[in-house]
Amino acid sequence: MENRADLAIVGAGIMGLAHAYAAARRGARVVVFERGLRATGASVRNFGLIWPIGQPHGALHQLALESRAYWLELLQDARLPYWPAGSLHLAYRDDEAAVVREFCERGPALGYDCAWLPPAEAFKRSCAIQADGLIGALWSPTEIIVDPRLTLAAVPAYLAEQFRVDVRFGCAVRNIDLPLIEAGEQRWMVDQAIVASGDDFESLYPTVFAESGLTRVKLQMLRTCPQPHGWRLGPALAAGLTLRFYPSFQVCGTLDVLKERILRETPEFERWGIHGLVSQTAQGELTLGDSHEYGLSPDVFNKEEIDELILHYIRGFLKAPDLTIAQRWSGVYAKHPEEPFLSLSPAAGVRIVTSPGGAGMTLSFGIAARTIKEIGL
Ligand SMILES: Cc1cc2nc3c(=O)[nH]c(=O)nc-3n(C[C@H](O)[C@H](O)[C@H](O)COP(=O)(O)OP(=O)(O)OC[C@H]3O[C@@H](n4cnc5c(N)ncnc54)[C@H](O)[C@@H]3O)c2cc1C
Repeated sequence: MENRADLAIVGAGIMGLAHAYAAARRGARVVVFERGLRATGASVRNFGLIWPIGQPHGALHQLALESRAYWLELLQDARLPYWPAGSLHLAYRDDEAAVVREFCERGPALGYDCAWLPPAEAFKRSCAIQADGLIGALWSPTEIIVDPRLTLAAVPAYLAEQFRVDVRFGCAVRNIDLPLIEAGEQRWMVDQAIVASGDDFESLYPTVFAESGLTRVKLQMLRTCPQPHGWRLGPALAAGLTLRFYPSFQVCGTLDVLKERILRETPEFERWGIHGLVSQTAQGELTLGDSHEYGLSPDVFNKEEIDELILHYIRGFLKAPDLTIAQRWSGVYAKHPEEPFLSLSPAAGVRIVTSPGGAGMTLSFGIAARTIKEIGL
């Protein structure tokens, strides 16, 4: 007899798991197919930052806050470690301080909970800040750090136990022709399907992929060895380069001066799309990154020059006991040039939900809640 479910989900990255969570909470019988023996895509390669402060004001910032609320429910219910420690954007140059001050003036009216901190106040929040030359910092309490590898490994088991979600690893979906879905050697009958296969949905829907306008983005990342027992980063750290990266700061008229100076002084940061972010894992390692290289066929080889630039920049603002690098890797996500994510209907009953770009951890649960409502589950 064939297997049956109300909803099949392709992919056990964060988008697939978030959709499984949203549907199962509403009582749907859900099966998730993951081609790997565990998730190996962008969701386990990231910083683990739930980062509402980076989303542009209005609908997307609101979606990020909704997503954050779902994250908190899940993390608490599943008893997973997380650090709701907020974030600090550190300003060491006058043009960086100008953007941070302007954002702190305009941000609250736009819905951001944020404040300018002079150095003494910033040091009270974090022992990991390089003091030399610090002018001030943007404090935001909404950011959460999770450990992505640990979380992505634990959530499938939680979904199975709590909501009877059937998660099938080592099971690549090769054909969807509803109600039939073929995955590995298995045949399932399902009412609806959600394809959350990350940057690869061209295997299942090549024409839709070709017409989608998506490109790929490759990011280089580094991780230190564990910091001494008990040393915690506290708030996630960012600095001046990040102010030009997230769309939230585009409301600042002072941003152009900062961008122009970075391009003039350090074009190599612009060339490789580098900014500096720091988070910490459950084992105490610091996750450092990142860079952005755009193109449908990303270079499979990492560039030492990029790692060196990232490290050099981060050493300028991070003070940590041990910056010995223990791991290096890269990750790829899909991104649309204009849309914050894509939700496409290639066939009746099928949704492709993909390309939340560099904000998939941040937006996934909010996007999932909306998709599941839209498809009537
Ligand atoms: C280095 C890096 C750092 C980042 N940092 C952050 C951050 O801190 N905060 C943030 O908000 N976002 C961050 N992002 C973005 C975020 O990680 C992604 O947006 C998000 O992980 C995308 O999730 P996904 O589930 O769509 O894709 P993926 O995680 O890639 O998952 C897709 C899954 O589908 C599976 N799959 C594909 N095809 C099939 C098939 N036919 N059958 C079965 N399974 C299939 C794949 O094996 C994979 O496991 C970062 C991304 C990278 C690369």
